[in-house]
Amino acid sequence: MKIIDKLQDGKVHVSIEVFPPKTDAKYQEVIEAVDQIAAMRPFYISVTYGAGGGTSRNTVKIASHIKKDLGVESLAHLSCVSSTRETVRQVISELQQEGIENILALRGDIPTDPEIPVAKDYQYASQLIEEIRKQGDFCIGAACYPEGHVDSRDRKEDICYLKEKVDRGVDFLTTQMFFDNMVHYSFLYRIREKGITVPVIPGIMPVTNAKQMRRILSMSGTALPARFQAVLDRFGTNPQAMKQAGIAYATEQIIDLIANGINHIHIYSMNKPEVAGAILHQLSEIIEND
Ligand SMILES: Cc1cc2nc3c(=O)[nH]c(=O)nc-3n(C[C@H](O)[C@H](O)[C@H](O)COP(=O)(O)OP(=O)(O)OC[C@H]3O[C@@H](n4cnc5c(N)ncnc54)[C@H](O)[C@@H]3O)c2cc1C
Repeated sequence: MKIIDKLQDGKVHVSIEVFPPKTDAKYQEVIEAVDQIAAMRPFYISVTYGAGGGTSRNTVKIASHIKKDLGVESLAHLSCVSSTRETVRQVISELQQEGIENILALRGDIPTDPEIPVAKDYQYASQLIEEIRKQGDFCIGAACYPEGHVDSRDRKEDICYLKEKVDRGVDFLTTQMFFDNMVHYSFLYRIREKGITVPVIPGIMPVTNAKQMRRILSMSGTALPARFQAVLDRFGTNPQAMKQAGIAYATEQIIDLIANGINHIHIYSMNKPEVAGAILHQLSEIIEND
């Protein structure tokens, strides 16, 4: 099933992201988490794609397991900046062979690790989107950044490039995480004004430890609202309390988004079924996944 076909059915859906293991030794552990998440019957499960090496190798395999063995729709991420055209074409064709119909097309972060070669075939996600469109009949998603992408000089320029990207054949967008819903509402207003009309799925990350938050802030340019800072200040040194508060904060964000007319939410629960499960439990009368 193509994700876009279900996105506008007026029902409330939740999807969940997982990431492949960095080493083969962790493969079974990840599969067990994926199986538990699939048992919660989300609308779809997305599988991230690492920049070269172990995590990219297993993306197709896990996405295929989700769809074929677990009967849940899957969305395979694919990034291009550190891949050759040949590798990208090979992965697209593997996805086709596995019957995967949905791809999240990404540039990927520019590798800083000297072990990961920087290929010169693609500079931006928009070029990958053209490649996927040429190769098959996929539903294509892409990333967007309510607070602007970290490489962008300003948000206006970022939205212009986003419009160009969408015009190359994007069916829907998924956002970078944010912790203040007003940031998302304002972003939606600005992109709609610029003629971007495709569905936008907000990505919500339950932050369950203070270290995770520090990493997010340093990498993504996401702002930390005072309300969340207070949660960190109060609970950051108590892991169990922080986990509970992080889940509650994310759940509240999701309820506010749905109450304001947004029907689809993507949860970045970092391969933690208990975190995804705790959120979904609080939304059990709200979600209409089937
Ligand atoms: C929902 C989501 C899922 C993600 N999943 C993964 C994953 O699985 N694997 C992974 O490695 N990374 C993932 N990322 C991270 C992503 O790869 C990085 O944020 C990356 O730096 C940008 O990718 P992009 O596809 O948004 O790039 P682009 O859309 O190509 O944009 C990158 C930058 O280039 C600018 N730009 C775009 N086009 C042009 C142009 N023509 N001229 C000049 N500037 C331009 C944009 O404004 C932006 O600043 C994900 C991000 C999100 C939000």
